[in-house]
Amino acid sequence: MKYVDYIVVGGGISGSVLTYTLMKYGASVHVFDVPQANKSSIVASGLWNPIVLKRMKKVWNADAMIESLQAVYPAMENWTNQKFYEPLPIRRVFHNAGEQNQWVEHSDHPSFSPYLNEAISDIPEYIIAAHGSGLMQQTGRVHVSKMLDAVRGKLKQGEHFSEEEFDWDRLEAHGDGVKYGALGAHAIISCEGAQSALGESKLEVTGFSAVKGEVIKVELAHDLGKECIHQGHFMIGEGGNRALVGATYAWDGFEEGPSALKRQELEDHVQKVWDGSFKTIGHKAGIRPAVKDRRPLIGPHPKEKNVWVFNGMGSRAVLMTPYLAQHLVEHFMYGSPLLEECLPARMVK
Ligand SMILES: Cc1cc2nc3c(=O)[nH]c(=O)nc-3n(C[C@H](O)[C@H](O)[C@H](O)COP(=O)(O)OP(=O)(O)OC[C@H]3O[C@@H](n4cnc5c(N)ncnc54)[C@H](O)[C@@H]3O)c2cc1C
Repeated sequence: MKYVDYIVVGGGISGSVLTYTLMKYGASVHVFDVPQANKSSIVASGLWNPIVLKRMKKVWNADAMIESLQAVYPAMENWTNQKFYEPLPIRRVFHNAGEQNQWVEHSDHPSFSPYLNEAISDIPEYIIAAHGSGLMQQTGRVHVSKMLDAVRGKLKQGEHFSEEEFDWDRLEAHGDGVKYGALGAHAIISCEGAQSALGESKLEVTGFSAVKGEVIKVELAHDLGKECIHQGHFMIGEGGNRALVGATYAWDGFEEGPSALKRQELEDHVQKVWDGSFKTIGHKAGIRPAVKDRRPLIGPHPKEKNVWVFNGMGSRAVLMTPYLAQHLVEHFMYGSPLLEECLPARMVK
């Protein structure tokens, strides 16, 4: 029988960052994942941004999350010997003079100044807007599919990865831990993301409010350059006259795959903000594992012994997972307190 400290179920953004963090702290890990069944991370645009631009509010624990991600993703690049971390200023294009004034005011405030450049800059060529734009700092993009491939490759080298569906019905209690076939572990952590949110996992986790999202890839008449433009929707230049445009939000109508309605919404957006012709060349949909009270689900499973949950990253997995993984792993290693507001037990009546 093979023994590890932790079994991790799921190799999306959550499972990958958590596994890296566990191993960094010296734990042995075995991961189960079906990459082809991934319904969220492989669609993610991979942006991180500590400010909710529409309301000019900081994301919960934003400063600590930024500090953590700036250390973790480059370290994961070193660990895997692959590149996927790209600091990139997000350009906020203002819809009106009020938004511009709000930007200037906030950029002068100590809590926002690390993230908002006070200068008002011109609009890039071919973007239609009348009120200027502001550049964010400490924002960027993780090329998620590349990161997941890199982590999977690294784990496969060490035989720490099984590309198969984990069957919760076969999990047994074993001494102080768990047993799954010929694999024993101190504990098991569910990072099943969208599958849990959709109730497709046999491990019941409550509290989700799944949100469907869609993105399109367009070919533009001119190159957008190295720009990530936020104008309600974002438009990210990917080189070679191509850009990624997204993302949409839908709380119901989860028919499988991309929808004509949301494609239209995104094409209407490009039409409104892009001064030139374009053609849609790709369209993808995914499910965000969001939670009813907008806090992730991290901690012991409310009913199952030695089973833990690391899920509920909603639309901000890239920003949140490095910080939250560190929290959970430090609890395992040193007994430091868990984040009360994230405990899965809060969702059980
Ligand atoms: C259109 C769109 C755009 C987005 N853009 C961004 C963005 O710019 N920035 C950002 O931070 N977030 C973004 N998100 C949100 C982000 O995608 C999610 O928060 C994130 O992917 C969740 O990751 P996860 O690892 O928790 O879950 P998932 O990505 O769902 O991964 C779970 C993995 O577990 C596997 N799995 C599940 N059950 C089992 C089992 N029993 N056995 C084996 N394997 C199993 C699945 O196959 C999958 O590979 C976006 C989402 C969408 C839909």
